[in-house]
Amino acid sequence: MRTTTVVIGAGQSGLAMSRCLSDRSIDHVVLERGEVANSWRTERWDSLRLLTPNWQCRLPAYSYDGADPDGFMTMPEVIEFITNYAKVISAPVQSGTTITSVRYLDGGYSVLTDQGEWHCQTVVVATGAFNVPHVPAFAEAIPSSVTTLTPMQYRNVEQLGEGAVMVVGASATGVQIAAEIQRSDREVTLAVGEHVRGPRTYRDRDIHWWMEATGVLDERYDEVDDIVRARRVPSMQLAGSDERATFDLNALTSMGVKLVGRFAGVNDGQAQFSGSLCNKCELADLKLGRLLNTIDEWVTANGLDDSVSPPHRFAPTTVDPASPLSLDLASGEIETIIWATGFRPDYSWLDVEVLDGKGMIRHDGGVVDCPGMYVLGSPFLRRRKSSFIDGACADAQELIIELTAYLDRQASSA
Ligand SMILES: Cc1cc2nc3c(=O)[nH]c(=O)nc-3n(C[C@H](O)[C@H](O)[C@H](O)COP(=O)(O)OP(=O)(O)OC[C@H]3O[C@@H](n4cnc5c(N)ncnc54)[C@H](O)[C@@H]3O)c2cc1C
Repeated sequence: MRTTTVVIGAGQSGLAMSRCLSDRSIDHVVLERGEVANSWRTERWDSLRLLTPNWQCRLPAYSYDGADPDGFMTMPEVIEFITNYAKVISAPVQSGTTITSVRYLDGGYSVLTDQGEWHCQTVVVATGAFNVPHVPAFAEAIPSSVTTLTPMQYRNVEQLGEGAVMVVGASATGVQIAAEIQRSDREVTLAVGEHVRGPRTYRDRDIHWWMEATGVLDERYDEVDDIVRARRVPSMQLAGSDERATFDLNALTSMGVKLVGRFAGVNDGQAQFSGSLCNKCELADLKLGRLLNTIDEWVTANGLDDSVSPPHRFAPTTVDPASPLSLDLASGEIETIIWATGFRPDYSWLDVEVLDGKGMIRHDGGVVDCPGMYVLGSPFLRRRKSSFIDGACADAQELIIELTAYLDRQASSA
């Protein structure tokens, strides 16, 4: 089978690109191993809601138009939103098709799937950035009496025994799961490493509204000092709820969650925690202060001080200076550990020399280091919001220009 462009993955990124390709009448197919919005259907826990507000769900030529722009979609709503997009744009999705190999051959690509082979001039990798949960190597030393789960295995508290739970990692996933389990009357310990503190609302507006208005979410990859570092920044401690609640560490502590430092290793059945908890929290408080300063300066510069409530600062994160540095995992005190320690992409099917030592695709703003290959949906691909639903729109609209220029160059040199 032959086409001009093969798009791999029918999440928001692949579909956004499909719409851009159709706009330019570029012949293409979107290959998807599951169904449209597969990651949202199969890889998320039951209670998850988007942490981005509904009004920020925007894709090329499509956006949320329901009655609750300031609300946060549940998973069934996200699946419906994305599935409907595929229909509205008549995306040529071939579902149930797993890509097993992509090779660069004779100036084009061979895309091998479990449903046959495709040949094309250009490939768009839209397989997502969060395919595989990252679990530290020392997890192997956890005593077998402790049940361990990744966020992709965790669905709801019904899966858990009645005993205490340790959640490792305090980014969006970790704080949301820790809060849910604490609400079920189980004891929860949260191991806290580097994290990004965020209030749900500030000065009468949602924090995402402010981050968009001030340009923080649109900051570009070629404008930041250290893009490698920027691409590794953990997600902000946010959750979507009707109450617009804040999910920072102070909120969790007041619910009863116990904080310990970063889970650094296991020695003789003892979990070892870093002594850096206070420092990590101070740093997160400092960075939150900087974000609020940016917002306040923007409000003043735009003459809006009278239209929103006055600036204020949140209480510093309260940390128990006597939080334990170790915990006996063999004692039965902790029954379950949940690794909310991040996700990685899976490019095991990519037989093109474009991966760096960490298994990440080498690219310049989505233009991959191999002619005619593009990637979408990675953290800070072109802008801070790149891995959000809203980021797929802007990135796809820029990458289509690169892809079209490549096809034009190929045509003129043929
Ligand atoms: C827990 C969690 C919460 C999130 N919350 C938000 C949020 O609130 N707001 C927001 O804007 N973003 C959020 N995101 C980030 C982002 O929007 C999602 O990760 C989103 O799924 C990424 O869309 P995508 O199209 O880039 O990738 P995906 O949705 O992962 O789509 C990739 C597709 O590629 C397919 N695929 C993968 N490998 C193959 C293969 N070999 N062959 C064929 N098909 C393949 C997959 O089945 C999948 O359908 C969240 C992410 C996570 C992990």
